[in-house]
Amino acid sequence: MNVTWNPWHGCRRISEGCQHCYMFFLDKQHGQDGSRIHLSKTDTSLPLQRDRSRNFKIPTGSNVWTCITSDFFLEEADLWRIDAWDCIARRPDLLFHIITKRVDRIPQCLPLAWGDGWPNVRIYVTVENQRCANLRLPTLLRLPLRFRGICASPLLGELHLESFLPHIDSVSCDGENYEGARVCDYAWVQSLHDQCVQANVRFHFKGTGAVFRKDGRIYRLSHEVAAQQAQKAAIDFEGHETPFHPVPPPEEPLELFDWNPEQPEKCLHCLRRNHCPRHDGHCWS
Ligand code: SF4
Repeated sequence: MNVTWNPWHGCRRISEGCQHCYMFFLDKQHGQDGSRIHLSKTDTSLPLQRDRSRNFKIPTGSNVWTCITSDFFLEEADLWRIDAWDCIARRPDLLFHIITKRVDRIPQCLPLAWGDGWPNVRIYVTVENQRCANLRLPTLLRLPLRFRGICASPLLGELHLESFLPHIDSVSCDGENYEGARVCDYAWVQSLHDQCVQANVRFHFKGTGAVFRKDGRIYRLSHEVAAQQAQKAAIDFEGHETPFHPVPPPEEPLELFDWNPEQPEKCLHCLRRNHCPRHDGHCWS
């Protein structure tokens, strides 16, 4: 089962790929402002919610696409993320997929109990062009993660990822959709596919985007048709396996953060508390 979980909503644009962000577009259609970053009213703890029979609403083994209307590592979500990590840790039977452009913020946002990564968390970094790939992927490779993915979406130019792919578990690519969509060329997709096959890395062609160029000819497609056309191209590739083994949820609550009971109450929700040199109530930040 595939589920989306948006504990918070809204974002700030940070690079070329954000220019026509679908979240801003869809919010505008509904008379809302995508730059208003706010906690969800109902879904902050969705993975822990149970039905009337006391079963979890999200069944064991599900894929949980996390924070797809924001960025999980956004600064504004620093305090909210503590509870999100708590939900993720309590559901080791679910596979959480997190896509981000803010890979440089990941080290400071990981819980102390992270170790060399949690098996139920898969991190994907978005790279829309070669500049972003060169900027973000070296950082991704240095992080303690069990799974590293690349989302080339929206694909805005040809990418050469050969030097990164030996350390990557999956690559997906998609064109741009909705208002103002920029062209995606099939030759770029084909090149990415060939690089993944060469490196034995999983490759998924998710969609052509709304403006698709093939053999020099431009096609304009709806979102649905774009996905169908990508499927018809039949260039997905399995690559090396990265299995996920669901673990039963723990009975007892987990201590994710190194909480010192001597610390004053005001420190309870401070993101820096794990690294705080002061335990006397005199805030240093
Ligand atoms: S980081 Fe993602 S959600 Fe945020 S503005 Fe950019 S494309 Fe949109």
